[in-house]
Amino acid sequence: MRGRTSKFAALLLSAALAAGALGACAPQGGDGSGGDLPDTGQSGDFTDLSVRDYIGENGIVTAASPYAAKAGLDVLKDGGNAFDAAVAISFAIGVAEADACGLGGGGLMIAYNVNSGQSLYYNFREFAPAGASTDYSEYEKITADNACIETAVPTQVAGLLTILEEQGSGRLTKQRIMQPAIDMARDGIEVTPELSQNIKDSVAKILYNGDDVWNVFSDGIEGLYEGDILVQSDLADTLEYVATHTKEEFYTGEIAQKIVAASQAHGGSITMDDMRYAAENYPKKSQALTGTYKGYEILTCAGPSTGGTMLIEMLNMLECYDGSVAALGHNSEEYVNLIATVMQLAYGDKEKYMADSSAVQVPVEGLTSKQYAAERFENYRAGHAYLGTGQGDLPYGDPSPYNGGQVQTYADGTSGDHQSTTTFSVIDEAGNIVTFTQTINNFFGCGIVPEGCGFFLNNEMRDFSYEQGSINEVAPYKQPASYMMPTVILKDGRPYATLGSPGGSRIPAAVLQVTLNMTEFGMDMQEAIEAPRVYCFTTSDEPEGTAKTIEVEAALKNLLPGLAAMGYDAAVYSDRQLDPYFGGVQGIKVEEEGYHGGADPRRDGKALGY
Ligand code: GLU
Repeated sequence: MRGRTSKFAALLLSAALAAGALGACAPQGGDGSGGDLPDTGQSGDFTDLSVRDYIGENGIVTAASPYAAKAGLDVLKDGGNAFDAAVAISFAIGVAEADACGLGGGGLMIAYNVNSGQSLYYNFREFAPAGASTDYSEYEKITADNACIETAVPTQVAGLLTILEEQGSGRLTKQRIMQPAIDMARDGIEVTPELSQNIKDSVAKILYNGDDVWNVFSDGIEGLYEGDILVQSDLADTLEYVATHTKEEFYTGEIAQKIVAASQAHGGSITMDDMRYAAENYPKKSQALTGTYKGYEILTCAGPSTGGTMLIEMLNMLECYDGSVAALGHNSEEYVNLIATVMQLAYGDKEKYMADSSAVQVPVEGLTSKQYAAERFENYRAGHAYLGTGQGDLPYGDPSPYNGGQVQTYADGTSGDHQSTTTFSVIDEAGNIVTFTQTINNFFGCGIVPEGCGFFLNNEMRDFSYEQGSINEVAPYKQPASYMMPTVILKDGRPYATLGSPGGSRIPAAVLQVTLNMTEFGMDMQEAIEAPRVYCFTTSDEPEGTAKTIEVEAALKNLLPGLAAMGYDAAVYSDRQLDPYFGGVQGIKVEEEGYHGGADPRRDGKALGY
């Protein structure tokens, strides 16, 4: 671990590997950036995705792109701290996964300072423009003409520049930290199978931009196949602009004007006043939302994240299980029934009670209380699906007794479902942890690129609920509810793990399962990520009749008859063994051998360390 020499660590690793102690882990040789290959090049086997994880003794990064992971690793090696590296990864992954995140979006960050024991929550989630439409019929049919009605005010740049300024080490310049991203955009990166597929799936939306699309993908979007080089010259110029301008200049200058012009041209309402509001009010900074589970401490995201509250509620419910969770057996029928039940109960509460807590009354104290969890958990019945019992249960509970006797009442709401986003984590030499999840919502966001800027505007307004009077309905300056929930876990007051996931409504389910894989089943980080997942939901977009639907990854298809007998509408989601629909978890676990960075094969995940 920290303090040992590389040689010693390598010996430890080979001994562990020989003993089969590391399971799926097969770290690369040398320094984690490709053995003998030069550190600075963007070719070499750091892009080899046949090995995903890495155990580092000094520092570790994990991201959904080897290029972005390399950007973070090099910053750490150059003396940057975890925030410097995370910001480098954030900009870089906005290039590598320009379809999933970037300057046109926003995100959430959790950090843990190992010396002070303090947590930090930076919220740079996008917000509704002052003039956002509340005529929900307008959101029903989206074309190029009105695509930007779905665009919330981008807050990514405000978040990253502030985090760097307030938390960065100061040892590396902004230009240095952003240079890998600029180089990746200018020189090009290899198109992965996933990016190629996402481009194909979204061609119609990308073509909203007409001929301008050629400025985004300099070599054109047709014929961009796996292994081709994707050059994004406009994005490189925009990143240079960010590197050489302040946050205030970004939000009042020419890029802001182009964002506003694109919004207005495509039916949106973003104004320069909204952009200035972003610069003045974002990011929002507070401490993490906390919970506990059997001696572990959970540091996660409060509103507008709903996923953080859901994770704490689900773990609280599982603590009420009268027996050993581990003894049920990993992914056994009853284990799946148990976690599916707590998922349904928490997802039901999400739709009713969770949203942007600075704009509406979220009963977070009640929702995260152990007593409320105990009451909710009374719905669990071994051998029976919760909503398959025919009792006509409401999908949500009443947390008011545990919330000072009060809960503001809102109309029932539902939210749409999405699949995009990215997550990454860093631990630096001092042992400090930074974890991000960031998004433009759907792949390629709303499809619109501000002229000559090279990044896609988000369609985060889709994360609002389009029901009048619901807790998550659209309002000026309000942030749409998010499932995103980068999370840090402590044990006995020391760092234990950090993780996050993309995957829309599957995010809390994925983070819950990976957390339990480690804490209950003793898996290492990579095993915990690779284990097949399930997802069970109540209300999201579905009519009540399908409220007990459970979806499983292909490897779990043998569970279907048993789950059906319990009353579930059980289905295999796809024939892919590991499907990105179930999230793409990147995480780090502090293991005996060192910091074990795990990376999800459901995405282009890669951990690198030194
Ligand atoms: N926009 C979604 C949210 O904030 C994330 C979408 C995704 O992860 O696929 O919850």
